[in-house]
Amino acid sequence: MGMNIESIRREFLKDVGEATSLPVLYEVKAKYLGRKGILTNLFKELKNLSVEERRERGRVLNDLKEWMEERIRKREGEILEAEALKKELEGKVDLTLPGRRVRIGNIHPLNRVLREIIEIFSSMGFSLEEGPEIELDYYNFEALNIPKDHPARDMHDTFYITDNALLRTHTSPVQIRAMRKRKPPLRVISAGKVYRRDSDPTHSPMFHQVEGLLVDEDVKLADLKGVLSEFANRIFGGKRRVRFRPSYFPFTEPSLEVDVECVRCGGKGCQVCKGTGWLEILGAGMVHPEVFKAVGYDSGKYVGFAFGLGVERIAMLKYGIDDLRLFFDNDLRFLRQF
Ligand SMILES: [Zn+2]
Repeated sequence: MGMNIESIRREFLKDVGEATSLPVLYEVKAKYLGRKGILTNLFKELKNLSVEERRERGRVLNDLKEWMEERIRKREGEILEAEALKKELEGKVDLTLPGRRVRIGNIHPLNRVLREIIEIFSSMGFSLEEGPEIELDYYNFEALNIPKDHPARDMHDTFYITDNALLRTHTSPVQIRAMRKRKPPLRVISAGKVYRRDSDPTHSPMFHQVEGLLVDEDVKLADLKGVLSEFANRIFGGKRRVRFRPSYFPFTEPSLEVDVECVRCGGKGCQVCKGTGWLEILGAGMVHPEVFKAVGYDSGKYVGFAFGLGVERIAMLKYGIDDLRLFFDNDLRFLRQF
């Protein structure tokens, strides 16, 4: 008899454990405790026993009944909890939905052009130099042959931080720093942000420049022309003529404006080049002896050329953009085109 109770108990535990829904659990309940249930039938058999046996057996069966009811209530709670959780997840997680696409960003058009310019000059042996954007007046002006009262300072519309510190107005101070660090021969470019108090469709208070400097013992204007022609051909594509016009910068002598054949009309004349067939893209010249003096180079022995260009200007010509401000508005419709 005791063995029988034990096997009923084990069978009941197995049945309850396998019930994962309420209907199945209630079937299990009926199987043991229902009107024709296993335990109910055992209770019915009590009447065949003696008074003594009946009391003992009755106690065992009552304990078993209580225990079964308790197990079923507990299981009921577990099933309800699992079903609620399942329902909640069903509303939120739809496993049949396709995965979310990863958006790949673009390189900003200005950075694209900047990288391309650096790459072109690197391939000609120029190494990239970096310098601070907050610069001393000395490096930004004085060492470049622009003393305190020089009229050229007015053209720069400088943001001053103190009497002596300013936001650099060009990348030329990087060249001064490079020359003070190293002896010739030297072949460097500097690239980065520069600042001027200026804002309209063709001027931004922050813009990007790339400048180049080459110093050696036997350097001619023809070498400068060769380097810049190669640059113009590669940045705009095709064979492009380059022309020099006399100009003035305090740090070069002679100073030149460099024009390239119009990238739109190829020299015939159009709106972009205002009918001239030429586009001004660079300022350049042979390094002024005063600049060499400031950095301690022997101007009797060494000659050099320097050039500077605006990255925004090159990018506008290259991509046919007519408003500089588009580069800084962060309009994704514009930026996604590159
Ligand atoms: Zn043109």
